[in-house]
Amino acid sequence: MIPYKSEPLTNFTIEANQKSYSDALKKVETELGQEYPLIIGGERITTEQKITSYNPSNKQEVVGYVSKASQDLAEKAMQVADSTFNQWKKVNPIVRAEVLFKAAAITRRRKFELAAWMTKEAGKPWIQADADVAEGIDFLEYYGRQMLELAEGKPLNQNPGEINKYSYIPLGVGIVISPWNFPFAIMVGTTVAAVVTGNTVLLKPASTTPVIAYKFMEILEQAGLPAGVVNYVPGSGAEVGDYLVDHPRTRFISFTGSRDVGLRINQRASVLNEGQIWIKRVIAEMGGKDTIVVDEDADLELAAQSIVTSAFGFSGQKCSACSRAVIVGDHAYETVLKRVEELTNEIIVGDPANLETYMGPVNDAGAFKKITEYIEIGKGEGRLITGGTADDSKGFFINPTVFADVDPNARIMQEEIFGPVLAFTKANSFDDAIEIANNTVYGLTGAVLSNNRFHLEKAREEFHVGNLYLNRGCTGATVGYQPFGGFNMSGTDSKAGGPDYLTLHMQAKSVSEML
Ligand code: GLU
Repeated sequence: MIPYKSEPLTNFTIEANQKSYSDALKKVETELGQEYPLIIGGERITTEQKITSYNPSNKQEVVGYVSKASQDLAEKAMQVADSTFNQWKKVNPIVRAEVLFKAAAITRRRKFELAAWMTKEAGKPWIQADADVAEGIDFLEYYGRQMLELAEGKPLNQNPGEINKYSYIPLGVGIVISPWNFPFAIMVGTTVAAVVTGNTVLLKPASTTPVIAYKFMEILEQAGLPAGVVNYVPGSGAEVGDYLVDHPRTRFISFTGSRDVGLRINQRASVLNEGQIWIKRVIAEMGGKDTIVVDEDADLELAAQSIVTSAFGFSGQKCSACSRAVIVGDHAYETVLKRVEELTNEIIVGDPANLETYMGPVNDAGAFKKITEYIEIGKGEGRLITGGTADDSKGFFINPTVFADVDPNARIMQEEIFGPVLAFTKANSFDDAIEIANNTVYGLTGAVLSNNRFHLEKAREEFHVGNLYLNRGCTGATVGYQPFGGFNMSGTDSKAGGPDYLTLHMQAKSVSEML
């Protein structure tokens, strides 16, 4: 077995790659507006009610019409997943891992096409869409290998006259509720982690990005995953989501999304329903309010570049995005702010189908409304440096926005905006900066740029985030290199893409035999 290594990103300065992406976009354009059924036990089921997936850059353009599950169909899917579990759990883990490796190979061959779908459906610029596909491949390759290791169990102490064994068995049916911001990578990662560990899944993808999830269902089928192991049930959270979370046969829920929805799921999952014989497990990746701290003696150019990339990559729609820049001392503050302003003004906002676009649209009308409202709040809480404007006449475009001199307790410093809005605040000392950085209810990512070893070590110990980065930006965790997940209101710190992730989907069994 070749050791795991993360998937290389596509070099778009190479003309052949540019052509492949343009060709893929053209192909996808000819396939827009098609209908997609539910998939339950391999059966295609078309419903009257549909989710319409739009291109967020062009509201007139329909990406696809996706059948919408009702409670009855959700129930049917649950029964299929529940009975398929009895077979799937017995399949050799090596075979399960091989399905993932095959799915990775198919994904790799189709990477331009899959990325192009995300440019259309999620408004992802080329580089971001390509990275999303690469991360999906990484999850497949990494979790496949992790399962091979786990299949061997863990060693135990042995007394004379007994043999003790410790092994992991799957849990049952998992509900996977995946987000629109990494509509491929996180959907793939959360689904296949459950599958490779021997569970069966009901996949409810985000309602704005169901088509890319359907494409992955086809890949799983091609890779030889038996029918019924993953069932595709897009639908409304209030109708299908709650129904499945509450269901007595649901064994675990793997959720990525907002804090409010995560807390709601956690609360509902704690209620014992009739016929239920276990405590449901919840794996939740929720929000972030992530800070980059810049020390007085830091490389200020690197700091400005790191802040801009972390704040505005994919329009700030990452839970890891930098929305708070905390700078120590007057000189560093003025210099970094000025340079961030310059770099932000160079950002090209527009149709993500064009290679030169750095920032595409935001997700939908709801996101547009929420972010523009926060921009108005920001105008009362800080000094607008650049941006502050938006246009939803064709798509949901918001210009990258920077506010300076914002109080650490201001709303735009405390609440997750999930858009291209960045607030600056000045700290009097490094200690002060770390205190400000920790002063949110979240604890997902954070970064410190400093050349002071004592300060870096202080941050290592005291900056309370699940993913801390020293002398770089705070986005772009790589599977197997930077396991991802946060503290406090950021979720259950599940560390996706890390060595402890798969066991969250399993339970350990201890067997002792007397000789
Ligand atoms: N893993 C991504 C990163 O490191 C963020 C995932 C998310 O936004 O949910 O930037």
